[in-house]
Amino acid sequence: MNPGIKIAVAGLAREGNTFAGGVGTIDDFRTNSFLQGDEVLEVGRLNDSLAGALQVASERGVAVVPTFHARSISGPSVRAEDHAELKRLVLDGLTAVLPEVDGIYLRLHGAFTAEGCDDVEGDLMASLRQIVGPDFPISGSFDLHTHGTATMAAATPMIAGFQTYPHIDMVQTGRRAMAMLIDAIQGRTRPTIGFRKIPVMSASEVHNTTTGPVSEVMIRLHHIQSLPGVLDASIFCTQPWLDVTDFGWSVVVVTDGDQPRAQGYADELAASLFDRRERLVVHKESLADALARARDAKGIGGPVVLGDGADSPSAGSTGDSSVLLQAVLDEPIGGPVLCSVTDAPALQACVEAGTGAKTTVKVGGTLSPHFFSPIEITGTVVSFGDNSSAPDGRPISTGRFAVLRIGEVSLVISELATSMTDDRLYRAAGLDVDGAWMVQAKSAGQYHEGYEHIGSELIDVDMRGPAQHDLLSLPFSRIPRPIWPFDPDVERGF
Ligand SMILES: [Zn+2]
Repeated sequence: MNPGIKIAVAGLAREGNTFAGGVGTIDDFRTNSFLQGDEVLEVGRLNDSLAGALQVASERGVAVVPTFHARSISGPSVRAEDHAELKRLVLDGLTAVLPEVDGIYLRLHGAFTAEGCDDVEGDLMASLRQIVGPDFPISGSFDLHTHGTATMAAATPMIAGFQTYPHIDMVQTGRRAMAMLIDAIQGRTRPTIGFRKIPVMSASEVHNTTTGPVSEVMIRLHHIQSLPGVLDASIFCTQPWLDVTDFGWSVVVVTDGDQPRAQGYADELAASLFDRRERLVVHKESLADALARARDAKGIGGPVVLGDGADSPSAGSTGDSSVLLQAVLDEPIGGPVLCSVTDAPALQACVEAGTGAKTTVKVGGTLSPHFFSPIEITGTVVSFGDNSSAPDGRPISTGRFAVLRIGEVSLVISELATSMTDDRLYRAAGLDVDGAWMVQAKSAGQYHEGYEHIGSELIDVDMRGPAQHDLLSLPFSRIPRPIWPFDPDVERGF
């Protein structure tokens, strides 16, 4: 159908968090997803933007040339030399196949930070643009939490971001990016971009696209996207836990050959978001109240799920808070409780103690010590598992883990931080999620998608940590000022 058209495919995905302790390394990718050549096609089986891109290529008879794909859990900025190596792997992979392809699709996240580089994706795209020249078609798919920059927009007009939070449209976003790319290669369209930065930031709990201020603007975005001559549109609510100089939300609109029109729509959407800034406030329940509700609910109709977003690994935190754990140990709930903590040494202590042993270990508080402290607990080692224990095809990348039973609490102690946006780690550990009275979900907002079918109540809890909702009390020092909510009198400026 499309004789001869070939598209190179590459991916590099990580979300930074500059408040999390430690430093990211290339091993964070090697333990998660690190694929070369045809291995990259494995991502096509997942609920991922790359899968959507591959679908569209297949449907339109376009050949793909997979090159390199690396993805890690969110976390602190990556060590400079490891960032350089990842960048080299992406660029070398693409350069090697450049003579045989007509375009490039990039599966990115958009908020990757490294030592000395606030904008890894922009840097990568700019370098790629230099290699391929000004007219070579490149498209990319991005997260809604992209730290959108003018550098990205200058590198290519074909930018497509998730339009949902909690994110459910990963595949669809990849489809949009690939469709835009093929149309451009075939000469059907001439993509041009409007980009607008907005002096606004907020915690991710109010990025919701089904209710609240962002959802209202998303309705207008979908209308604009449906108009003739408009190719795509994205709102980037931005990963909030980045202390970077070019911070703030942004909007991208892509049109067919009409840049002023694209800019006009981008400005309109950006203004609508700015005008709603005073509603971008996150309210959370106190831990004591949330625990009382779990206690009162007695597990009827499913567990009460406590969203401990401040320590969300999928938002880049280290997963080693033991604050909620300590609270339920101090004042028991009355029924089964599931908690999690990242702590490799504590896991090793459980391994050495063995199944069935009673052991005393210190857990938590070593990875982000400026937020969390270790606590000492005594429990019985119940079981062990690892990534191969993943339930029903939902992969986990937590390395080894142990279950320690402390009274009514089953604590999953994992080697590596892993996404806790759903119940997969608890189920991998063989725990009865449905029968629990209370479940800790170390997730800011995405867990609403993962637990809505299971939990009787989902409660966002007011906690402190590298991904806390209270941005004003975090030690930001590099962000541009003025910006909402740090500067209440900030003006729109466009
Ligand atoms: Zn996101």
